[in-house]
Amino acid sequence: MSYLLHLRCRECGRTYPLEPLAACEECWAPLEVQYDYGRLWADLRPQDLASRPATMWRYRELLPVDGEPWVGQQTGFTPLVSAPRLARLLGVREVYVKNDAVNHPTLSFKDRVVAVALSKAREFGFDTVGCSSTGNLANAVAAQAAAGGFKAFIFVPADLESEKIIATQIYGATLVKIQGTYDQVNRLCSEVAMKYSWGIVNVNLRSYYSEGSKTVAYEIAEQLGWRLPQNIVVPMAGGSLITKIHKGFEELKKLGWVEPAPTKFFGAQATGCSPITTAAKRGTTEIDPQKPNTIAKSLAIGNPADGIFAVKAILGSGGAGEDVTDDEIVAGIRLLAETEGIFTETAGGVTVAVARKLLRQGRINPDESLVLAITGNGLKTVAAVTGRLEEPEAIRPKLVEFEERFLTTATAATV
Ligand SMILES: *Cc1c(COP(=O)(O)O)cnc(C)c1O
Ligand SMILES: [Zn+2]
Repeated sequence: MSYLLHLRCRECGRTYPLEPLAACEECWAPLEVQYDYGRLWADLRPQDLASRPATMWRYRELLPVDGEPWVGQQTGFTPLVSAPRLARLLGVREVYVKNDAVNHPTLSFKDRVVAVALSKAREFGFDTVGCSSTGNLANAVAAQAAAGGFKAFIFVPADLESEKIIATQIYGATLVKIQGTYDQVNRLCSEVAMKYSWGIVNVNLRSYYSEGSKTVAYEIAEQLGWRLPQNIVVPMAGGSLITKIHKGFEELKKLGWVEPAPTKFFGAQATGCSPITTAAKRGTTEIDPQKPNTIAKSLAIGNPADGIFAVKAILGSGGAGEDVTDDEIVAGIRLLAETEGIFTETAGGVTVAVARKLLRQGRINPDESLVLAITGNGLKTVAAVTGRLEEPEAIRPKLVEFEERFLTTATAATV
């Protein structure tokens, strides 16, 4: 049974049928899927989900897909890891890591949005799909297009990390490298979407695609025992993920599945591309576009499509936006790896580093629960930490050489 109603403009409220539309015809604002929450509230209880498979599709009534998912059937329900060692180092009582670095199949949270987008593409009858991407979306669309039998065109900025290039081409997708920034890539992609009858994930499938991010919110709540965290730090590129986690928590309150407790949203960016946090710090929804220059390439969107809504979610929750330098990002990656054994990509480094900065500034209450959204895998941005770690010299395979090189005389003597 479907609980979908229609698409609705986020600015003017005009409604549209559930079709592949890029934006409102009146005001060009994004469109959002509307659900019949009254019927959902009457029909569904959290305990009804308990026996369902541990994937994002356990929340299928809250996702804009009519039938069974066509791709990404195993995506989502990533671990919510209790992080006591990191908590002690940060000086916080209760920290959890939502670990989408191990999401199926391409190791980032983008697998969630693509699972919805390409399932919807199938329902709309598209045989060709595509996207503009800062890397992880490229990987997810390429992989799931292969699994779903779609032709795929992937548009990326030419300076992308080599891991992310390879992890797109390997699936047989057509990679279109553009000399320009993500924002220029995205503009070209919109023109392509207008001219050809293709399903472009972040253009004419955007309102469906972005709904996939809500499953991060549902999972966190369920994994906390149907409870909301008091604070959450979320990395931001276009600002969609943080907006949709916010929407997900609000939906759960509306459905009465969690206590209506407040959550403060903290948006995290790299200083080298911080249009959303800059606006949040100024207390305005006016976003000034920037030209990105940061190692956090997955977050390098200078003109964020959902920036306004991200700032509203942050400021409306009593949270804040904060950004960190490339050195702080690397320190954040290392801190999470060394305390919790989780290797995240640069975006996760941004999350950890921003959490640390806000805690040091006393802007996150250390006596409250804190969730860190870790959105991607460190093996995809190896270059960001290469040269930052000590490179050990090779030794000959001799015990004495090992002892001389690695053990102090005092320890060696006691062995
Ligand atoms: C895309 C991406 C984000 C941010 O996504 P938006 O919804 O565009 O804000 C965060 N982390 C990673 C690893 C990403 O790939
Ligand atoms: Zn409108």
